[in-house]
Amino acid sequence: SREIQLASRPHGWPVPENFRLVEKPVPELGDGQVLVRNLAMSVDPYMRGRMNDARSYSAPFALDAALDGGAVGEVVASRSDGRKEGDVVVHGLGWRDYAVLPATATRKVDPSLAPPTAFLGALGMTGLTAYAGLTRVAAFTPGDAVFVSGAAGAVGSLVGQIAKALGAGRVVGSAGSPEKVAHLLGLGFDAAFNYHDGPAKQLLRGVLGEGSGIDVYFDNVGGEQLEAAIAVMNPFGRIALCGAISAYNSTEAPTAPRNLATAIGKQLTLRGFLVGSHQDLAGEFAAKMAGWLAAGTVRFDETVVAGLENAPHAFLELMRGANTGKMVVTLP
Ligand code: NDP
Repeated sequence: SREIQLASRPHGWPVPENFRLVEKPVPELGDGQVLVRNLAMSVDPYMRGRMNDARSYSAPFALDAALDGGAVGEVVASRSDGRKEGDVVVHGLGWRDYAVLPATATRKVDPSLAPPTAFLGALGMTGLTAYAGLTRVAAFTPGDAVFVSGAAGAVGSLVGQIAKALGAGRVVGSAGSPEKVAHLLGLGFDAAFNYHDGPAKQLLRGVLGEGSGIDVYFDNVGGEQLEAAIAVMNPFGRIALCGAISAYNSTEAPTAPRNLATAIGKQLTLRGFLVGSHQDLAGEFAAKMAGWLAAGTVRFDETVVAGLENAPHAFLELMRGANTGKMVVTLP
Protein backbone atom coordinates (compact mmCIF):
# COMPACT_ATOMS: atom_id res chain seq x y z
CA SER A 1 0.00 0.00 0.00
CA ARG A 2 1.22 3.50 -0.75
CA GLU A 3 0.82 6.64 1.33
CA ILE A 4 1.81 10.28 1.03
CA GLN A 5 3.89 11.60 3.89
CA LEU A 6 4.82 15.11 4.92
CA ALA A 7 8.59 15.21 4.33
CA SER A 8 9.12 18.81 5.47
CA ARG A 9 7.02 21.78 6.53
CA PRO A 10 6.35 24.41 3.86
CA HIS A 11 7.36 28.00 4.46
CA GLY A 12 4.95 30.12 2.45
CA TRP A 13 3.83 28.30 -0.69
CA PRO A 14 4.22 24.49 -0.47
CA VAL A 15 6.53 22.79 -2.99
CA PRO A 16 6.50 19.16 -4.25
CA GLU A 17 9.56 18.41 -2.08
CA ASN A 18 7.42 18.86 1.04
CA PHE A 19 5.74 15.54 0.19
CA ARG A 20 6.97 11.96 -0.20
CA LEU A 21 5.35 8.77 -1.55
CA VAL A 22 6.11 5.73 0.61
CA GLU A 23 5.31 1.99 0.23
CA LYS A 24 4.20 0.21 3.39
CA PRO A 25 2.64 -3.14 4.24
CA VAL A 26 -1.08 -2.99 5.09
CA PRO A 27 -1.44 -3.41 8.89
CA GLU A 28 -3.25 -6.45 10.36
CA LEU A 29 -6.93 -5.95 11.09
CA GLY A 30 -7.80 -5.72 14.78
CA ASP A 31 -11.17 -6.48 16.37
CA GLY A 32 -13.82 -3.99 15.32
CA GLN A 33 -11.68 -2.69 12.44
CA VAL A 34 -12.20 -2.55 8.71
CA LEU A 35 -9.83 -2.50 5.75
CA VAL A 36 -10.92 0.12 3.23
CA ARG A 37 -9.62 0.43 -0.32
CA ASN A 38 -9.80 4.14 -0.99
CA LEU A 39 -11.61 5.16 -4.17
CA ALA A 40 -11.12 8.91 -3.84
CA MET A 41 -9.66 11.42 -1.41
CA SER A 42 -10.18 15.08 -0.76
CA VAL A 43 -7.61 17.85 -0.83
CA ASP A 44 -8.77 20.87 1.16
CA PRO A 45 -7.43 24.35 1.89
CA TYR A 46 -7.48 23.73 5.68
CA MET A 47 -4.75 21.12 5.17
CA ARG A 48 -2.30 23.97 4.51
CA GLY A 49 -2.67 25.11 8.14
CA ARG A 50 -2.02 21.59 9.36
CA MET A 51 1.30 21.55 7.51
CA ASN A 52 2.57 24.24 9.88
CA ASP A 53 3.90 23.31 13.27
CA ALA A 54 1.37 25.55 14.95
CA ARG A 55 -1.63 24.87 17.12
CA SER A 56 -4.89 25.54 15.37
CA TYR A 57 -8.40 24.08 15.43
CA SER A 58 -7.02 20.85 14.00
CA ALA A 59 -3.74 19.24 15.02
CA PRO A 60 -0.66 19.72 12.83
CA PHE A 61 0.34 16.86 10.52
CA ALA A 62 3.31 14.91 11.88
CA LEU A 63 6.52 14.88 9.87
CA ASP A 64 7.45 11.58 8.18
CA ALA A 65 3.95 10.20 8.69
CA ALA A 66 1.03 9.87 6.33
CA LEU A 67 -1.16 12.91 5.86
CA ASP A 68 -4.85 12.39 6.55
CA GLY A 69 -8.15 13.88 5.49
CA GLY A 70 -11.50 13.04 3.95
CA ALA A 71 -11.72 9.91 1.80
CA VAL A 72 -14.29 7.54 0.41
CA GLY A 73 -13.65 3.87 -0.17
CA GLU A 74 -14.91 0.34 -0.31
CA VAL A 75 -14.68 -2.05 2.63
CA VAL A 76 -12.60 -5.03 1.45
CA ALA A 77 -12.29 -6.82 4.81
CA SER A 78 -14.16 -6.39 8.07
CA ARG A 79 -13.82 -7.56 11.65
CA SER A 80 -16.88 -5.61 12.73
CA ASP A 81 -20.55 -6.55 12.69
CA GLY A 82 -21.40 -3.01 11.60
CA ARG A 83 -19.65 -3.11 8.22
CA LYS A 84 -19.38 -5.76 5.54
CA GLU A 85 -17.32 -6.21 2.40
CA GLY A 86 -18.62 -4.03 -0.41
CA ASP A 87 -19.91 -1.25 1.87
CA VAL A 88 -18.94 2.21 0.66
CA VAL A 89 -17.80 4.42 3.50
CA VAL A 90 -16.56 7.95 4.15
CA HIS A 91 -13.76 8.32 6.67
CA GLY A 92 -10.77 10.43 7.67
CA LEU A 93 -7.78 8.41 6.40
CA GLY A 94 -7.13 9.78 2.96
CA TRP A 95 -3.69 10.22 1.33
CA ARG A 96 -3.21 6.41 1.14
CA ASP A 97 -4.35 3.46 -0.99
CA TYR A 98 -5.64 1.37 1.92
CA ALA A 99 -6.89 2.47 5.32
CA VAL A 100 -7.28 0.35 8.44
CA LEU A 101 -9.52 1.94 11.04
CA PRO A 102 -12.30 1.23 13.53
CA ALA A 103 -15.64 0.60 11.79
CA THR A 104 -17.12 3.20 14.13
CA ALA A 105 -14.88 5.84 12.54
CA THR A 106 -16.53 5.26 9.15
CA ARG A 107 -19.84 6.55 7.82
CA LYS A 108 -21.72 4.32 5.41
CA VAL A 109 -23.07 6.02 2.29
CA ASP A 110 -25.48 4.87 -0.40
CA PRO A 111 -23.46 4.52 -3.63
CA SER A 112 -26.65 4.41 -5.71
CA LEU A 113 -27.26 8.11 -4.86
CA ALA A 114 -24.17 9.56 -6.51
CA PRO A 115 -20.61 8.73 -7.60
CA PRO A 116 -18.23 8.21 -4.65
CA THR A 117 -16.52 11.60 -5.07
CA ALA A 118 -19.82 13.41 -4.43
CA PHE A 119 -19.67 12.27 -0.79
CA LEU A 120 -16.51 14.36 -0.41
CA GLY A 121 -18.17 17.37 -2.06
CA ALA A 122 -21.79 18.35 -2.48
CA LEU A 123 -23.12 15.48 -0.37
CA GLY A 124 -20.34 15.66 2.20
CA MET A 125 -18.38 18.06 4.37
CA THR A 126 -18.22 20.67 1.61
CA GLY A 127 -21.98 20.81 1.14
CA LEU A 128 -22.67 20.92 4.86
CA THR A 129 -20.19 23.79 5.24
CA ALA A 130 -22.09 25.78 2.62
CA TYR A 131 -25.50 24.96 4.06
CA ALA A 132 -24.70 25.46 7.74
CA GLY A 133 -22.64 28.58 7.08
CA LEU A 134 -25.38 30.20 5.06
CA THR A 135 -28.53 29.15 6.89
CA ARG A 136 -27.35 29.05 10.49
CA VAL A 137 -24.17 31.05 10.87
CA ALA A 138 -25.18 33.88 8.53
CA ALA A 139 -28.87 33.47 9.47
CA PHE A 140 -29.95 33.73 5.82
CA THR A 141 -33.55 34.76 5.21
CA PRO A 142 -35.35 34.81 1.84
CA GLY A 143 -34.90 38.10 0.07
CA ASP A 144 -31.36 38.63 1.41
CA ALA A 145 -28.75 39.94 -1.00
CA VAL A 146 -25.78 37.57 -0.75
CA PHE A 147 -22.11 37.93 -1.67
CA VAL A 148 -19.81 34.91 -1.64
CA SER A 149 -16.07 34.93 -2.36
CA GLY A 150 -14.23 31.87 -3.66
CA ALA A 151 -17.49 31.40 -5.49
CA ALA A 152 -16.29 29.01 -8.19
CA GLY A 153 -14.78 26.69 -5.59
CA ALA A 154 -16.33 23.73 -3.84
CA VAL A 155 -18.02 25.51 -0.92
CA GLY A 156 -18.61 28.83 -2.67
CA SER A 157 -20.40 27.44 -5.73
CA LEU A 158 -22.81 25.61 -3.42
CA VAL A 159 -23.38 28.67 -1.24
CA GLY A 160 -24.53 30.72 -4.22
CA GLN A 161 -26.80 28.02 -5.58
CA ILE A 162 -28.29 27.16 -2.17
CA ALA A 163 -28.97 30.86 -1.56
CA LYS A 164 -30.80 31.01 -4.90
CA ALA A 165 -32.75 27.84 -4.10
CA LEU A 166 -33.80 29.35 -0.76
CA GLY A 167 -35.06 32.57 -2.31
CA ALA A 168 -32.18 35.01 -2.11
CA GLY A 169 -32.84 38.47 -3.48
CA ARG A 170 -29.59 38.69 -5.32
CA VAL A 171 -26.47 36.54 -5.38
CA VAL A 172 -23.07 37.91 -6.28
CA GLY A 173 -19.84 35.92 -6.46
CA SER A 174 -16.14 36.53 -6.96
CA ALA A 175 -13.51 34.24 -8.44
CA GLY A 176 -10.06 34.35 -9.94
CA SER A 177 -10.51 34.18 -13.72
CA PRO A 178 -12.86 35.32 -16.52
CA GLU A 179 -13.72 31.66 -17.20
CA LYS A 180 -14.81 31.24 -13.58
CA VAL A 181 -16.88 34.42 -13.75
CA ALA A 182 -18.69 33.06 -16.82
CA HIS A 183 -19.15 29.76 -15.02
CA LEU A 184 -20.83 31.51 -12.07
CA LEU A 185 -23.29 33.27 -14.33
CA GLY A 186 -24.03 29.85 -15.87
CA LEU A 187 -24.76 28.50 -12.38
CA GLY A 188 -27.39 31.21 -11.89
CA PHE A 189 -25.41 33.85 -9.98
CA ASP A 190 -26.89 37.28 -10.76
CA ALA A 191 -23.47 38.88 -11.06
CA ALA A 192 -19.83 37.97 -10.62
CA PHE A 193 -16.40 39.57 -10.84
CA ASN A 194 -12.78 38.53 -11.21
CA TYR A 195 -10.99 39.81 -8.10
CA HIS A 196 -7.74 40.16 -10.09
CA ASP A 197 -9.31 42.96 -12.12
CA GLY A 198 -8.78 45.73 -9.57
CA PRO A 199 -9.45 46.79 -5.98
CA ALA A 200 -12.11 44.45 -4.54
CA LYS A 201 -14.19 47.30 -3.12
CA GLN A 202 -14.48 48.98 -6.50
CA LEU A 203 -15.30 45.71 -8.28
CA LEU A 204 -17.93 44.72 -5.75
CA ARG A 205 -19.55 48.18 -5.85
CA GLY A 206 -19.48 47.94 -9.63
CA VAL A 207 -21.51 44.72 -9.82
CA LEU A 208 -23.92 45.79 -7.07
CA GLY A 209 -24.69 49.18 -8.55
CA GLU A 210 -24.96 52.52 -6.78
CA GLY A 211 -26.79 52.39 -3.45
CA SER A 212 -27.20 48.58 -3.30
CA GLY A 213 -25.72 46.68 -0.41
CA ILE A 214 -25.56 43.09 0.79
CA ASP A 215 -27.20 41.43 3.76
CA VAL A 216 -25.05 38.30 3.91
CA TYR A 217 -21.39 37.82 3.10
CA PHE A 218 -20.05 34.25 3.02
CA ASP A 219 -16.30 34.73 3.39
CA ASN A 220 -13.98 32.06 1.98
CA VAL A 221 -10.95 34.26 1.42
CA GLY A 222 -10.56 37.05 4.02
CA GLY A 223 -8.30 40.05 3.39
CA GLU A 224 -9.23 42.67 0.78
CA GLN A 225 -12.51 41.00 -0.13
CA LEU A 226 -13.63 40.90 3.51
CA GLU A 227 -12.86 44.61 3.69
CA ALA A 228 -14.87 45.20 0.51
CA ALA A 229 -17.82 43.25 1.90
CA ILE A 230 -17.80 45.20 5.18
CA ALA A 231 -17.85 48.39 3.13
CA VAL A 232 -21.05 47.44 1.30
CA MET A 233 -22.90 45.58 4.07
CA ASN A 234 -26.39 46.78 4.86
CA PRO A 235 -27.23 47.61 8.49
CA PHE A 236 -27.62 44.43 10.57
CA GLY A 237 -25.83 42.40 7.87
CA ARG A 238 -24.29 39.06 8.77
CA ILE A 239 -20.90 37.71 7.78
CA ALA A 240 -20.04 34.00 8.02
CA LEU A 241 -16.28 33.67 8.39
CA CYS A 242 -15.65 30.32 6.74
CA GLY A 243 -12.08 30.60 5.46
CA ALA A 244 -9.29 33.06 4.74
CA ILE A 245 -7.39 31.39 1.93
CA SER A 246 -5.81 34.67 0.78
CA ALA A 247 -3.59 34.40 3.86
CA TYR A 248 -2.90 30.65 4.03
CA ASN A 249 0.42 30.80 2.16
CA SER A 250 1.40 34.24 3.31
CA THR A 251 4.45 34.73 5.48
CA GLU A 252 3.24 38.12 6.71
CA ALA A 253 0.20 39.12 8.75
CA PRO A 254 -2.72 40.36 6.64
CA THR A 255 -3.32 44.12 6.57
CA ALA A 256 -7.02 44.03 5.58
CA PRO A 257 -9.75 44.45 6.74
CA ARG A 258 -8.92 47.98 7.80
CA ASN A 259 -12.56 49.07 8.19
CA LEU A 260 -13.65 46.70 10.93
CA ALA A 261 -14.79 49.57 13.15
CA THR A 262 -17.57 50.41 10.67
CA ALA A 263 -19.18 47.12 11.74
CA ILE A 264 -20.13 48.90 14.95
CA GLY A 265 -22.29 51.58 13.40
CA LYS A 266 -23.82 49.14 10.94
CA GLN A 267 -24.45 46.70 13.80
CA LEU A 268 -23.00 43.80 11.79
CA THR A 269 -22.56 40.26 12.99
CA LEU A 270 -19.26 38.57 12.07
CA ARG A 271 -19.27 34.94 13.09
CA GLY A 272 -16.58 32.34 12.52
CA PHE A 273 -17.57 28.70 12.34
CA LEU A 274 -16.31 25.15 11.91
CA VAL A 275 -18.45 22.67 10.01
CA GLY A 276 -17.75 20.03 12.67
CA SER A 277 -19.83 21.99 15.16
CA HIS A 278 -22.90 21.84 12.90
CA GLN A 279 -23.22 18.09 12.38
CA ASP A 280 -26.73 18.24 13.82
CA LEU A 281 -27.78 19.79 10.50
CA ALA A 282 -26.38 16.84 8.49
CA GLY A 283 -29.69 14.98 8.15
CA GLU A 284 -31.71 18.04 7.16
CA PHE A 285 -28.96 19.08 4.75
CA ALA A 286 -28.62 15.63 3.11
CA ALA A 287 -32.35 15.46 2.41
CA LYS A 288 -32.48 18.96 0.94
CA MET A 289 -29.34 18.55 -1.15
CA ALA A 290 -30.50 15.21 -2.58
CA GLY A 291 -33.71 16.96 -3.66
CA TRP A 292 -31.91 19.96 -5.19
CA LEU A 293 -29.48 17.73 -7.09
CA ALA A 294 -32.27 15.49 -8.40
CA ALA A 295 -34.29 18.51 -9.51
CA GLY A 296 -31.26 20.17 -11.12
CA THR A 297 -31.64 23.20 -8.81
CA VAL A 298 -28.05 22.71 -7.63
CA ARG A 299 -25.19 21.55 -9.85
CA PHE A 300 -21.86 20.48 -8.53
CA ASP A 301 -18.65 20.50 -10.48
CA GLU A 302 -15.54 18.53 -9.79
CA THR A 303 -11.96 18.90 -10.89
CA VAL A 304 -10.55 15.39 -10.86
CA VAL A 305 -6.88 14.44 -10.60
CA ALA A 306 -6.15 10.71 -10.98
CA GLY A 307 -3.61 8.81 -8.91
CA LEU A 308 -2.38 8.97 -5.33
CA GLU A 309 1.06 9.96 -6.59
CA ASN A 310 -0.52 13.14 -7.97
CA ALA A 311 -2.30 14.12 -4.74
CA PRO A 312 0.36 16.68 -3.69
CA HIS A 313 0.09 18.25 -7.15
CA ALA A 314 -3.71 18.36 -6.76
CA PHE A 315 -3.31 20.11 -3.40
CA LEU A 316 -0.91 22.70 -4.86
CA GLU A 317 -3.23 23.28 -7.82
CA LEU A 318 -6.15 23.79 -5.42
CA MET A 319 -4.24 26.53 -3.60
CA ARG A 320 -3.48 28.14 -6.98
CA GLY A 321 -7.12 28.05 -8.07
CA ALA A 322 -6.82 25.47 -10.86
CA ASN A 323 -10.07 23.89 -9.67
CA THR A 324 -13.65 24.68 -10.55
CA GLY A 325 -15.90 23.11 -7.95
CA LYS A 326 -14.49 20.42 -5.70
CA MET A 327 -10.91 19.24 -6.21
CA VAL A 328 -10.77 15.47 -5.71
CA VAL A 329 -8.15 12.80 -6.28
CA THR A 330 -9.33 9.44 -7.58
CA LEU A 331 -7.38 6.34 -6.66
CA PRO A 332 -7.86 3.89 -9.50
P1 NDP B 1 -12.09 25.80 -3.02
O1 NDP B 1 -12.67 24.76 -3.89
O2 NDP B 1 -12.79 27.12 -2.93
O3 NDP B 1 -10.59 26.01 -3.48
C1 NDP B 1 -9.84 27.06 -3.05
C2 NDP B 1 -10.02 28.27 -3.98
O4 NDP B 1 -9.52 29.42 -3.34
C3 NDP B 1 -9.21 28.18 -5.26
O5 NDP B 1 -9.92 27.47 -6.26
C4 NDP B 1 -8.98 29.64 -5.62
O6 NDP B 1 -9.93 30.06 -6.59
C5 NDP B 1 -9.25 30.39 -4.32
N1 NDP B 1 -8.11 31.21 -3.92
C6 NDP B 1 -6.82 30.84 -3.80
N2 NDP B 1 -6.06 31.89 -3.41
C7 NDP B 1 -6.91 32.95 -3.28
C8 NDP B 1 -6.72 34.31 -2.91
N3 NDP B 1 -5.52 34.81 -2.59
N4 NDP B 1 -7.82 35.11 -2.88
C9 NDP B 1 -9.03 34.64 -3.21
N5 NDP B 1 -9.26 33.35 -3.56
C10 NDP B 1 -8.21 32.52 -3.60
O7 NDP B 1 -11.92 25.23 -1.56
P2 NDP B 1 -13.07 24.86 -0.54
O8 NDP B 1 -14.37 25.15 -1.15
O9 NDP B 1 -12.80 23.51 -0.04
O10 NDP B 1 -12.83 25.88 0.65
C11 NDP B 1 -13.20 27.25 0.53
C12 NDP B 1 -12.87 27.96 1.84
O11 NDP B 1 -13.67 27.42 2.88
C13 NDP B 1 -11.44 27.83 2.29
O12 NDP B 1 -11.02 29.05 2.84
C14 NDP B 1 -11.51 26.77 3.36
O13 NDP B 1 -10.46 26.86 4.27
C15 NDP B 1 -12.86 27.05 3.96
N6 NDP B 1 -13.50 25.91 4.63
C16 NDP B 1 -13.89 26.11 5.92
C17 NDP B 1 -14.58 25.13 6.60
C18 NDP B 1 -15.04 25.41 7.99
O14 NDP B 1 -15.52 24.50 8.67
N7 NDP B 1 -14.93 26.63 8.45
C19 NDP B 1 -14.86 23.82 5.98
C20 NDP B 1 -14.46 23.74 4.59
C21 NDP B 1 -13.79 24.76 3.95
P3 NDP B 1 -9.74 31.41 -7.47
O15 NDP B 1 -9.37 30.94 -8.86
O16 NDP B 1 -11.10 32.03 -7.43
O17 NDP B 1 -8.67 32.23 -6.85
